[in-house]
Amino acid sequence: MATPIAPLTEIQSWNREVDIVVVGLGAAGACAALEAHRAGVDVLIIERASGGGGASAQSEGIFYLGGGTSLQRDLGYDDSPENMYAFMRASTSAPDDAILRQFCDDAAGHFDWLESNGVPFDRRAFTGKAVAVRTGEGLLSTGNEKVWPFIDAAQPVPRGHQTRADNGDRGGINAMAALLATVEREGIPTQVDTAVTGLVMQDSTVVGVRLRTPGAPDEFVGARRGVIMATGSFNLNDEMTKDSFPIVAEHARPLGIDSNDGAGLLLAQGAGAATEAMEGVIATGSIYPPAQLIFGIIVNAEGQRFVAEDSYHGRTAHFIARQPEQRAWLLVDEEHFAYPERGHPLVDVFDDVDALETSLGVPPGSITDTLERYNAGASDGTDTEFHKHRDWLTPLQFPLAAFNISMAVAEYSFIALGGLRADLDGRALTEDGTAIDGLYAVGAVAAHLPRDGDEYASGMSLGPGSYFGRRAGRHAAARI
Ligand SMILES: Cc1cc2nc3c(=O)[nH]c(=O)nc-3n(C[C@H](O)[C@H](O)[C@H](O)COP(=O)(O)OP(=O)(O)OC[C@H]3O[C@@H](n4cnc5c(N)ncnc54)[C@H](O)[C@@H]3O)c2cc1C
Repeated sequence: MATPIAPLTEIQSWNREVDIVVVGLGAAGACAALEAHRAGVDVLIIERASGGGGASAQSEGIFYLGGGTSLQRDLGYDDSPENMYAFMRASTSAPDDAILRQFCDDAAGHFDWLESNGVPFDRRAFTGKAVAVRTGEGLLSTGNEKVWPFIDAAQPVPRGHQTRADNGDRGGINAMAALLATVEREGIPTQVDTAVTGLVMQDSTVVGVRLRTPGAPDEFVGARRGVIMATGSFNLNDEMTKDSFPIVAEHARPLGIDSNDGAGLLLAQGAGAATEAMEGVIATGSIYPPAQLIFGIIVNAEGQRFVAEDSYHGRTAHFIARQPEQRAWLLVDEEHFAYPERGHPLVDVFDDVDALETSLGVPPGSITDTLERYNAGASDGTDTEFHKHRDWLTPLQFPLAAFNISMAVAEYSFIALGGLRADLDGRALTEDGTAIDGLYAVGAVAAHLPRDGDEYASGMSLGPGSYFGRRAGRHAAARI
């Protein structure tokens, strides 16, 4: 890549000028472009792939929204912006309270906006425990709402608004098909097979971009009102992920598309933008489905529990990554035995604790103690150590099966949560918190509201990413 920043003085003339350049046509970029276009300004979308969609089209299509959406109401769930905020405040360390508050206040309206732009959500709830559904239900619990200590902070309600999935496919395809069709119907110019490879600066303001289309000379496009970076995550940039979260990057497979390589993030950094939460990552190697496996316990190489087994799968993986050598096993009794859908190899079925401890190589007596404590509480429906919900508590008797869920052995994948620092309107911020004139960062190129895997819930990328995309589009359109 050539120099990421070009001063305006080095450019003889613009090849084209528009009001706003949106870089990347995933969910965040599509939402930004639609709002900017509807505000009556000239928008140009630049997409490096041969068509729009991004990782958003590959996703399960879950948008984390709530506060009393029409879908929640239609399915009989009572939620309010205050309740959603109470949960999100307790469960995420999003540093800017005003941003979190506004997202919760506007989440129900944002859901209506998505539906009115064609994103399909069926009026059916999934009440079991799943990572995502491929059977078309529109609403499910996707986070730690029922997990201690968050269950004490807010009334748990489902907030995973999942785009209808057809024919066993992921819902993200339908979400992006709808948004892309809307972008096309409204006639927003989109140039594909073209990458933004540089930002043009006039003093400290971003005033345009350099475009690179294979086989053609570079072009410079002026952006009178701003450049909105919506280039997605850096999941596929090996160097960046290994620097940011070495343990997870070593063991897990990145989720995303090839062009989620952090190029947009690096361009914005070159223009002075700061990053946040770069070490944050949600890894997943879920023990469920089937949900009955949650009746089991998870132990580490010391034979000790370290997480409530009913946690959201990203939270469980977060704690596995912090155990000695990232080793862990799921122990399940005969009544609840099933093979996990995810690739967690069965070690064996054990008739007694000595054989189990010897086979796993944990200290003798350690699992005996763990089981004694767990079973004593479970028979009264309590888990004083990790507060697993009573719905999943039952004393465990041998024979017990052990599944190896160690990071080096089982199947794990990840999504980076860090990215550019941005304000409520998606303006990219410098290290000292000053907004960079003319530069916006939305979607997964920006840091997520949940800063690490123990805070994440499915949908916390697409939900906020699409919402802040819209805000950035409107803000840039109003900028003189
Ligand atoms: C299998 C899977 C399942 C997931 N499920 C969910 C889920 O259900 N809910 C959820 O919230 N999150 C989910 N995620 C994460 C989520 O999909 C992404 O974080 C989210 O889609 C990011 O959206 P975005 O618009 O920011 O980026 P993207 O959708 O990745 O779009 C970015 C676009 O920018 C383009 N681009 C990149 N660099 C340039 C450049 N220099 N010039 C021009 N264009 C460029 C890319 O080609 C791409 O099209 C999932 C991810 C995967 C892979």
